Amino acid sequence: MNALPENWHPEFHEDSKTELSVIVPLYNEHEVIALMHERLTAVLVDLGIPYELVLVDDGSRDGTPHAMSQLAEADPTVTAVFLSRNFGKEAALTAGLEHAAGDAVIIMDADLQDPPELIPEMLQAWKGGADVVCMRRRSRAGETWFKRFSAHHFYRLLNAISDVDIPPDTGDFRLLSRKAVYALKQLNERNRYMKGLFAWIGLPTTVIEYDRMPRAAGLTKWNYLGLLNLAFQGITSFSTAPLRLAMVGGLLTALFGILFTLWIVVKALVLGDPVQGYPSLISMITILGGAQLLSIGLLGEYIGKTYYEAKQRPVYLVREVVRRGKPVEQTASDSAPSPAGKKWYATF
Ligand code: UDP
Ligand code: MG
Repeated sequence: MNALPENWHPEFHEDSKTELSVIVPLYNEHEVIALMHERLTAVLVDLGIPYELVLVDDGSRDGTPHAMSQLAEADPTVTAVFLSRNFGKEAALTAGLEHAAGDAVIIMDADLQDPPELIPEMLQAWKGGADVVCMRRRSRAGETWFKRFSAHHFYRLLNAISDVDIPPDTGDFRLLSRKAVYALKQLNERNRYMKGLFAWIGLPTTVIEYDRMPRAAGLTKWNYLGLLNLAFQGITSFSTAPLRLAMVGGLLTALFGILFTLWIVVKALVLGDPVQGYPSLISMITILGGAQLLSIGLLGEYIGKTYYEAKQRPVYLVREVVRRGKPVEQTASDSAPSPAGKKWYATF
């Protein structure tokens, strides 16, 4: 379905240890998958090292799974992981990390916004001793000023209020050493805000700057509501500062309430001013009621998170894995256990 480079020798990779895995999550990326495979393969073949391409279908509803099956059949370096439904990019990345065998693992988007041509530079940084190579966006072509503005401020806010330090303007595009992948696999929380998890593990990190391209084809899967949700997930997964803020707000309101009451009493007793109640009473009730509901909602958000964690459901379910052109036989007991001994996924 797509032209492979002439110097491409799949048998070269057959029995050697995989040095590099490239993980690509795909959700309705039918329009770009062939182009992505072609450009990526051209770069990877030139490296001359054993590599694998881990494509994760995140429950696409278009031709993506079909195109992936065809690629997996034609190209033995492709490992195709099909999830049972759309679990979201964070889960798809987790699935990719579980199925990648390389000493170095690179994560990139399917839409070629992260140029594959930077891979040699990333590998060089890894060989130079970095466990994590973060790619920092110098520019973000094709994105609205509002998205750039909100992303910029969101990362600064998150860094200020949480104990993780996320390098600003970095996305999921990055290289992880085997050590870093192992560290990530230890974090088996259900709420997977990947950028936060990447930062949480620490390890020697190198940052490389690049120019982010516009999407090669297709449409973005994010809308502002989705991004807002992701931002909220990020904050509530890595910081309890909002809870503390609610407490401080409550304290200040209570203090104000006491002073205001004293003032009314003094006014009535000393100045003999009859109490004029209605407007101040109503405004007090609504302000306090609003603040209380807000705090309860916030509390609920954290309790809800605990509820999801307590259920211990897998982060994703795998429908099928195709490796070297053949479906991988898997039973639930084959599935990769997490370090805590729990099953990360099951197959049907
Ligand atoms: N993606 C995914 N599951 C989803 C949404 C997105 O695997 O539920 C993948 C998508 O196919 C792409 C990457 O995540 O490879 C980034 O998505 P997108 O380009 O839509 O996001 P943006 O670059 O606009 O932030
Ligand atoms: Mg994109």
